[in-house]
Amino acid sequence: MSLEKYHKKRRFSKTPEPKGALSGKKQKRFVVQEHHARALHYDFRLELGGVLKSWAIPKVPPKTTGIRRLAMQTEDHPVEYINFAGVIPEGNYGAGRVIIWDKGEFNLEKNKRDEIIFILKGLKLKGRYILIKPKGSRFGKKAWLFFKMKEQP
Ligand code: MN
Repeated sequence: MSLEKYHKKRRFSKTPEPKGALSGKKQKRFVVQEHHARALHYDFRLELGGVLKSWAIPKVPPKTTGIRRLAMQTEDHPVEYINFAGVIPEGNYGAGRVIIWDKGEFNLEKNKRDEIIFILKGLKLKGRYILIKPKGSRFGKKAWLFFKMKEQP
């Protein structure tokens, strides 16, 4: 786990985003940030291993089963980012408004290199979700799928 990429992309004298540091806490929180950048997208972040593991989802995250979303993995963010909302000024990486779309805690059920399963306890997203990395996606190595899983019979 490292915040090197996160720090390299930003100038903290120019953006209100937190610089942050690796966290030793064992909390299990998630956030979805609606990010009005060049293209609107939803940043989905899970608190895992002292950072926020992060994916950018180009369309609204599904509240129900049957809808699969592309989720492009992005650089790990500091846990302090979980509360970030505001405007990243023009000229900065990710310039645009950030709004917290949903947040809450989660229970981790599976955490493999290419498959993460968790129960979300948010206000909008509730239930068992999966992030899974398909082999050989046309969207490249950073491409995952995000969707709500069917209830277990
Ligand atoms: Mn973003």
